[in-house]
Amino acid sequence: MREVRVKSVLNRHKKRDPWFLDDYSVNPYAGCSFNCLYCYIRGSKYGKDMGASLSVKVNAPEVLEKQLKRRAERGEYGIIALATSTEPYQKIEKKTKLTRRLLEVILKYRFPVHLLTKSPLALRDMDLLRKIDREALLPRDLQERPGRGVIINYSFSTLNPALAKKLEPGAPPPEARLEAMEEFSKAGFLAGVSLIPALPFLSDSQEEMERLVEETKRHGAKFLFAGALTLFGNSPYHSKSLYYEFLREHFPDLLPKYKSLFRIFPQPPKEYQRKLQSLAERLCKKYGLAPGLV
Ligand code: SF4
Repeated sequence: MREVRVKSVLNRHKKRDPWFLDDYSVNPYAGCSFNCLYCYIRGSKYGKDMGASLSVKVNAPEVLEKQLKRRAERGEYGIIALATSTEPYQKIEKKTKLTRRLLEVILKYRFPVHLLTKSPLALRDMDLLRKIDREALLPRDLQERPGRGVIINYSFSTLNPALAKKLEPGAPPPEARLEAMEEFSKAGFLAGVSLIPALPFLSDSQEEMERLVEETKRHGAKFLFAGALTLFGNSPYHSKSLYYEFLREHFPDLLPKYKSLFRIFPQPPKEYQRKLQSLAERLCKKYGLAPGLV
């Protein structure tokens, strides 16, 4: 683990994300010890074990304080996605409490948060999240929907624990994520799920997706997003190389199918994506979940 000092920690997006509704993102760490093979931050920068090369942005709370103060003075409120290129509640967070300190700053300046995580450790900060949910100032057009200062979003690629262990070796098992989401939901938070990425031929079938939608509903989810897998890069540490290595070892029959899906672009063809969306929407309707936030 490396300690680094940063000049900026608040990223302002050019355009609000149409799914996650964030205008800003904050990443307390660079790298991620959950080590998902499909992770889009993969590449030569972090090596195969992204936990070993993890950097902790030690001065992030002070920097965020300055940046949010300025934004708040100008009334530039918007949802902060925490986090988009790291896991805010990976193991090291138990010790550093960096995400917690960032939430304290976010609460002070009354910004809303979209928490994106795979970890039950987020429950530790329910006290702060509850206050942010109550006190955050939302941009005018988000005051009705989602109308909440905090959105809790647990992410999954599969519910199968053995498959998850291979693909997300450092992450808590899917069942633990469902249970954590349920606790948030029971505590009154707007909580839901991202099936991102849905894995072609492994977790994108009608049967697998229906099981996920049913289970997430049973655990209190109010919304569900589904998104396609993205794979790119040819260096040994890029997501495409690592994922293909995983297929070669465990599902060699699927390799030609993947090569066809990812032949030209880093994402499957539009037709595949349309089918995935429409299946997710149908299932959300069937089980009474919102297929998005607005
Ligand atoms: S938890 Fe998120 S940031 Fe971490 S490796 Fe997995 S996909 Fe990447």
